[in-house]
Amino acid sequence: MTNNEDKLKKIISHAKEYGFVFQSSEIYDGLSAVYDYAQNGVELKKNIREAWWKAMVQMNENIVGIDSAIFMHPTIWKASGHVDAFNDPLIDNKDSKKRYRADVLVEDYLAKIEAKIFKEVDKAKKRFGDAFNEEEFLNTNARVLANKEKMEAISKRLYQSLEKNDLEDVKLLIEELEIACPISGSKNWTEVKQFNLMFATQMGSTAEGANEIYLRPETAQGIFVNYLNVQKTGRMKIPFGIAQTGKAFRNEIVARQFIFRMREFEQMEMQFFVRPGQEMQWYEHWKAERMKWHLSLGMNKEDYRFHDHEKLAHYANAAADIEFNFPMGFKELEGIHSRTDFDLKAHEKFTGKKLRYFDPEINESYVPYVVETSIGLDRMFLAVLSSAYNEEVLEDGSERVVLNLPPALAPYKAAILPLIKKDGLPEKAREIMTELQEDFMCHYEEKDAIGKRYRRHDAIGTPYCITVDHESLTDHMVTIRDRDTMQQERVAIADLRTLIFNKIKNKALV
Ligand code: ATP
Repeated sequence: MTNNEDKLKKIISHAKEYGFVFQSSEIYDGLSAVYDYAQNGVELKKNIREAWWKAMVQMNENIVGIDSAIFMHPTIWKASGHVDAFNDPLIDNKDSKKRYRADVLVEDYLAKIEAKIFKEVDKAKKRFGDAFNEEEFLNTNARVLANKEKMEAISKRLYQSLEKNDLEDVKLLIEELEIACPISGSKNWTEVKQFNLMFATQMGSTAEGANEIYLRPETAQGIFVNYLNVQKTGRMKIPFGIAQTGKAFRNEIVARQFIFRMREFEQMEMQFFVRPGQEMQWYEHWKAERMKWHLSLGMNKEDYRFHDHEKLAHYANAAADIEFNFPMGFKELEGIHSRTDFDLKAHEKFTGKKLRYFDPEINESYVPYVVETSIGLDRMFLAVLSSAYNEEVLEDGSERVVLNLPPALAPYKAAILPLIKKDGLPEKAREIMTELQEDFMCHYEEKDAIGKRYRRHDAIGTPYCITVDHESLTDHMVTIRDRDTMQQERVAIADLRTLIFNKIKNKALV
């Protein structure tokens, strides 16, 4: 097992043990790729969602939010291209009977070649020490160049074949690369077939009279079909944006890697409507803004990179992913797409209604172009959780697991702990709890020794533990312990509110 797989396993079991994420329907042996957020997870998830909403809606006068329904008119998905083109190429291994996404098999193969390049870099770094120039090495080393060339050739062929829907060639590529099933180890593959990812259900009381409708595979279309309503009722002037958070559903073929790829997940999307011809400038703007948001949360810069798309979706004229260094490696966390006027034009065509905007500045009416930012809330949750998870060996040789969550995102801001369960300490602690819980999520706990309670709050990422002892009854002071430094300080009860507020204050969030 590699260290990375090891880390993902540890995060999954930590998330379960400390009430962040449970497998859905666990007592029925679970439902594949569906998860439930538990008592601490729901708080962290809510805080991430609110941080996003604040950055996108509250801080931008020209962006407003909506909450559209999950069920929509079925023709919307015809217009958007999802009925005909929202497919993944799938392939089965005849021996293990396991199903894979053909493109993912090839992409995993490419990741292995990339790992070889990283290994060469690491080796050279050690050899050359301070004199090492990574960029020069990547552009001159013969082995690296050969591997890069190989990667380019494979990915070009894969994307061209997918573009042309030449599924035979995708299978041929898998055979030529001698890709084996990770489970059976065999190279005995079926043909590659297209598989539509939308979940369908029936609307109506009887099956005969029923209309087939879909669970939305993205929240974006709910924004497009409401664009004119919002523009008119909100008297919005271009450029302006509409934001929305909500559930989306995809019947993913390869659903694995915990909450990274789920069948029911939550998206946070913003569609920005601009004058045609100005989309590239806004695309660059939102790329930069979104990266800034991630870093403003206190995430590590080294864990992020952009990946500009070579293969563009049918609706886009430019697209980039913000990739995060998950325990499984760098993977897409967010997409920024210049979607042109594809969606609005398609809805015009299918409804016969005009979705134009009259631009008083240039005295012209047009169908706006759209730049979209789209992030998976669950993927962001995994990014936050995995970068916060730390195992530490303390000075006395003992170990602790701590979640160094950005304080503003932590489920609880403070734990209120009476040192013992008697002598009036619980009553004093309750008083503090009552006062603080109006402003912050706090947790009152009196069970177990104080050290054990500290560890439990380290493990769920509570920034402050507040301990009430006998002296507190007379000096009106408490001991406050910092999660990250484990330093303890004596402070006046009257100062607690300001102290916690300053700790969690983050311009991006609170
Ligand atoms: P991928 O290539 O990983 O399947 P995608 O390119 O299909 O993702 P988009 O359609 O651009 O994803 O969706 C926008 C965002 O929604 C993604 O960046 C991701 O964070 C999130 N997302 C997409 N599919 C899933 C899923 N099955 N589970 C969790 N989050 C998802």
